[in-house]
Amino acid sequence: MRIEVLGCSGGIGAGLKTTCIKINDSILIDAGTGLELLSTEAMLKLRHIFFTHAHLDHICCLPLMLPTIYDRLKQPLHIHASDTVISALRDCIFNWTVWPDYTQLPDQAGSLLRFREMPIDSTISLEGLLITALAVNHPTPTQGYLIESSEGAFAFSGDTASTPEFLSRLYSVKRLMHLAVDVSFPSEQKSIAKASGHYTPASLKADLDRWPEGCPKPSLHITHLKPGYEDRVMEQCQQLLSDWNVLRLRSGDQLTFESDD
Ligand SMILES: [Zn+2]
Ligand SMILES: [Zn+2]
Repeated sequence: MRIEVLGCSGGIGAGLKTTCIKINDSILIDAGTGLELLSTEAMLKLRHIFFTHAHLDHICCLPLMLPTIYDRLKQPLHIHASDTVISALRDCIFNWTVWPDYTQLPDQAGSLLRFREMPIDSTISLEGLLITALAVNHPTPTQGYLIESSEGAFAFSGDTASTPEFLSRLYSVKRLMHLAVDVSFPSEQKSIAKASGHYTPASLKADLDRWPEGCPKPSLHITHLKPGYEDRVMEQCQQLLSDWNVLRLRSGDQLTFESDD
């Protein structure tokens, strides 16, 4: 499994791209502004996009990509998401007012987009991977994803505030090598973090303190940092989570899975 981080920031600005993670050549998790980094050829290889939720920083580049590829895409693009996200895309984006309805283009017989509802706790088997949607805690229905391959597993929280259930589901995952978790705000901004549904270093520590003794710890990648607060958040994470291998997720990161066979 090859995982490439295209975008993972909580905002935009020079060098900052919002959430978009590529798995192998054909799968994306979210379609934030990180998607802009793909060449047209790479966009044409995409077959599946899994959405965590419908907030703009996670969906904005799906509509923007379609005019680039629609006339050369040989197979439909499958959109896997909760019913809330599918409704939001249909009603609020592809409604001819905000953007053309690409579910009707190029013609009604052969649309570019295929929507497939992915409920919480469902698993889909795709290209040798098992992809499972896991509930997290954000102001709109949001799901993280667990991606398991023969080489190891990767878990991605999406946007979330404290969500012990998501983390406890991971305790039994075999060879969980990488875990990426949203920590948008420093601990002193706990009010805005709580209101907007994001972890702080302190709230993440409280949940990770429940990680069972003896249960292998994956590398912990901190994602969705708010622009301007990156150093402060990372400093607090390193200090509070000193028993974890804590890394700042960055656009351009490639996560590797070394076999221990
Ligand atoms: Zn969000
Ligand atoms: Zn977000």
